[in-house]
This record gives sequence, C-alpha cells and structure tokens, in this order.
Amino acid sequence: MPPKPKPRKVDWLDGIASRYDVIVIGSGLAGLTSANMLARQGHSVLLLEQHYNYGGMATWFKRKGGHIFDISLHGFPIGMKKTCRKYWSPEIAAAIVQLEGIRFDNPQFSLWTTFDRVDFTGLLTEQFGVEKSAIDAFFDHARSMNFYDEQTMTTRQLFEQYFPGRDDVVRLLMEPITYANGSTLDDPAITYGIVFSNFMSKGVYTFQGGTDKLIGMMKAELARNGVEIRNHALVEEVRVRDGRVRGVVANGREIDADCVVSNAGLLNTVTRLVDERHFSSDFLAAARGVRRNNSSCQVYLGIKKGESVDYIGDLFFTSVAPTYEADQLLSFVPSSRTFSLYYPNTRPGTDRYTIVSSTNARWEDWADFSDEAYEREKQKLIDGTLVALERYLPGVTEKIDHVEAATPRTFKYYTRHLGGASFGTKFEGLQVSFDLPNQVGGLFHAGSVGIIMSGWLGAANYGVIVANKADSFLTAAKK
Ligand SMILES: Cc1cc2nc3c(=O)[nH]c(=O)nc-3n(C[C@H](O)[C@H](O)[C@H](O)COP(=O)(O)OP(=O)(O)OC[C@H]3O[C@@H](n4cnc5c(N)ncnc54)[C@H](O)[C@@H]3O)c2cc1C
Repeated sequence: MPPKPKPRKVDWLDGIASRYDVIVIGSGLAGLTSANMLARQGHSVLLLEQHYNYGGMATWFKRKGGHIFDISLHGFPIGMKKTCRKYWSPEIAAAIVQLEGIRFDNPQFSLWTTFDRVDFTGLLTEQFGVEKSAIDAFFDHARSMNFYDEQTMTTRQLFEQYFPGRDDVVRLLMEPITYANGSTLDDPAITYGIVFSNFMSKGVYTFQGGTDKLIGMMKAELARNGVEIRNHALVEEVRVRDGRVRGVVANGREIDADCVVSNAGLLNTVTRLVDERHFSSDFLAAARGVRRNNSSCQVYLGIKKGESVDYIGDLFFTSVAPTYEADQLLSFVPSSRTFSLYYPNTRPGTDRYTIVSSTNARWEDWADFSDEAYEREKQKLIDGTLVALERYLPGVTEKIDHVEAATPRTFKYYTRHLGGASFGTKFEGLQVSFDLPNQVGGLFHAGSVGIIMSGWLGAANYGVIVANKADSFLTAAKK
C-alpha cells in the first residue's frame, strides 16, 4: 500500500499582510472593541486570537443534544447598550434587554428584585427597616464616586458609615458585586461604588440571542470595517527595539506594526510577551506587586429537548452560609452559588432551557490535582450543585441530559490568563496598565484590570479608552 499522505498543516496566518498600523492581541470584549474603534479611526488592524473561538470569556460552547452554554452572559449594566450603540452598531445595542427576575435566598433573607435604586430603596426600608435618609445618602455617595477620588476608603468603611452593624444589608449590597467582579470589603470603595451604581441606575441586562449571536454580529462589524481577524493565532512575543514596538511574533511568524494593543491579560503581557529588559526596574517592581483577581467554577446543566423547567428567576443568588464573607464565596466547597437560568426567550425561536451555576474560586485550590483527583473533585462540584438546585426545582435532575463542570484550570486553558483570573487584576493593576505605553512606545494593554475595568461593560469601555490613546499615538507618529 502506498504511504498515506501527511495531513497538510494549516497556516492560520495565510494571506495576511507583512505590516499593519496596529495589531490587537486577543479577542476579549476589550480587544474586539479596540480593534473596531481603531479600524473606524482609519488604521489598518490585525486581530490575533489564539483560541478557535472569538470573545475571550464572553464565549459559549455547544454540546450534543442541541445544548448551547453561555459562560459569562449572566448580567451587565445598562451602560453596555450605549457602549454598543456608539462603538459597535444600533442592531447590537437593540438586542440588549433587561433581566427582571433577580432573586436572593440565604439564611438572612429571601427576596425578588429588579436590582435598581428604586426597588432596593423599597426593600431596604420595608424589609430591612433601614431609615430612608441613610439609604439615600449611601446611594448618593456611591453614585458620586469616580476614579479620581481619594482611594483610601475601603468598601467595608463605606458600609460601616451608612449601615453600621448590619451584615444583612451588607450582604444584599455586596454579594452580587463580589460575584460580578471579585471585589471584597477590603478593596477601595470606588471599585464597589462605580460598579454598584452602574447596575443600580437601571437594573441588570442581557443579550437576547446569546453570546454566539453577539460575537457573530461583532465579527461581521469588524469585517465591514476592514479588520483582518485570525483565530488559532498565538502571539508568542511582542517585538520591541529602541523603546518602541515593532510588531509581534505569532505562530512563529514576524508581523510588523507601529502599535500593539494587548488584550492578553496585563500580567501575561508584562511578564511573558515582552522581554523584561525593555522595562524600568520601578515599573517591573510595580507590575510584580499586582495581585490577580480570583477565578471561577461553573456547572453547566442542559435540559433534555421537550422538557421544561418552572420560572424561578433569571439570576438567582443562593447561599446556605449564615452571613456574607468574601472569603467564603471563594471556598473550595461552595455554600453559595449563583444560578443563571436560560429559558427559551434567551434565544428566541428555540424551545431549550439551560442552567449555569457559577461560584468564585481560587486557582490554588484546583491547580495541583492529579487527573484522577481533578475529575473526582469536579464530580463533587456537580453533585453539590444538583443538590442545591433541587431545593428550588424539585425533580430537575431527571430532566438533565448534559452535565459538565469548569474550574480555574478550564479558564486558564482557554484564555491563558495566569491563575485563570476571571476579572483581571486587583485595583493596583490599573496604574500599571496606564503606565505601559510610557515604558514601550506604542504598546498598550486593554482588558479586565483594576476591578473597575472588568466585566463586559468595563472591558468594552476600557477597549474604547485604549483605542483612543492608541489612535493619538499613531496619529502623532504619522506626522
Ligand atoms: C465564569 C465567568 C462569569 C462571568 N460573568 C460575567 C457577567 O455576568 N457579567 C459581566 O459583565 N462579566 C462577567 N464575567 C467577566 C467578563 O466575562 C470578563 O471581564 C470580560 O469578558 C473580559 O474581557 P477582556 O477583554 O478582559 O478579555 P478576555 O475575555 O479575558 O479575553 C482575552 C483574550 O485574549 C486571548 N489571548 C490571550 N493570550 C493570547 C496570546 N498570546 N495570543 C493571542 N490571543 C491571546 C484569549 O484567548 C482571550 O480570547 C464573567 C467571567 C467569568 C469567567
């Protein structure tokens, strides 16, 4: 028999140019938004994504039985509508709709809410018996916070000022935000105030049609604006000479560029993609001091075709822990879980239901298991999740025909973020991200960082801010 021909190696970069004005590394929401803006501003843009899918954490996956699971489509503030309208398209903005059934159940309280200021004010006065004047003062203080404020006050001190000794009130106000961006009572109060107020302005929103539809529409928009986008394209190095960016090495190939926007995570960008001799010792010391934010675990539950589940809310914060503790939300054996319930109206035209349970998690708790122990622990996570869900949907286990778990290892594997960080870095990372272009001309970082710039809205908005800085750099360089 003649020898079988060897399979031809695909060249994922086939046909690209040898030079672009800008190369964007990574297709998270910040990378995608930066690429779109820079193309609209008239620059030639190449976007390189190492994964087969685009979207970074804003992604989805399909499984046998017709299941589609969304990873991070749980809820974001109304601001995303404006960001999408302005920097993407009216069609993308129009698919953003409110989630009205936000629910809490824990040993301290059980309630439904639309998660906005009016509803929270009513709950806090009537159910929690808090004086309206204290609630108004708290909301006004949180609303007035911005990045340029003094940053010495912690979130714990903020709560102590308005609701002393009320750990039930703190739980209502804080637990969802810890889920949304990993922040704790010891982080600067502005990281809480800015994100909380964004949600409180008009509640929690989702993208109707699912993450697959959103990213599909974004890809089409990028193509319309002339961005060259490639997947399976791993950037191995950012090339620097004489203090200036010269391009990247991706899949072993050198590509030239005057400017690079890295969405590959702040810590990866500084410690892995750029040779450290290009940075000052002060900058490196600051970068090494940046703490990464936590990671996550998720359990994906697919309901059999033809089966349905009762409406028990869209986003359901459940806990059996006696009080709120940020540390307890990270615990290896979770006692608190957020369930996202995807009914058929998530993807109009289908009749399918899926449920995703999310918990915050530490990389260290999952990193060193053998393959066998890892599978065993994932099964325990699944079993615990089903027990928790059965309390609200008795008999649901019988209706499920696909179950799967993701851990910090999964998030690291798919995004390459150190420690599988779900929300970038702690607050101090923001300054390092801002300082990067002062170290290497033309090198920018856009992506989840500093708590404030994380989540769908934070990442997309940071993509816009960085695109504007990169545009100024390129415009000045062209003169
Ligand atoms: C479980 C979970 C639930 C979440 N839920 C919500 C939610 O409900 N609401 C919300 O607003 N936010 C949520 N988030 C957070 C939100 O998804 C992220 O903050 C946001 O999507 C991050 O966008 P980003 O631009 O920082 O990049 P990322 O999404 O982190 O993407 C970075 C991209 O860069 C690519 N990359 C990395 N290195 C390289 C390289 N060397 N070469 C090429 N490509 C590279 C990666 O593959 C990835 O695609 C959640 C996150 C997780 C993990």
